[in-house]
Amino acid sequence: MSTPHLSVDRERCIGAGMCAMTAPDIFDQDPDEGLVLLLDAEPSAPHHAAARLAVGVCPSGAITLDEPGPGGS
Ligand code: SF4
Repeated sequence: MSTPHLSVDRERCIGAGMCAMTAPDIFDQDPDEGLVLLLDAEPSAPHHAAARLAVGVCPSGAITLDEPGPGGS
């Protein structure tokens, strides 16, 4: 089974916190700048929907989700 891989671009993050609110098991914000912290780059299956949602709600496009196809390409 292929595992989706998350990455975040802290240069783009504006600290809106939508990701941490949407998927608190996967994202947090650092206490100083409020920028995103990735807690789990390869979340387990129950968290995939929340991960996709977080990509969608991030206003700055700082979250990338790589979902390998079934063939693992
Ligand atoms: S939702 Fe996007 S901009 Fe907001 S903290 Fe998360 S990564 Fe940063």
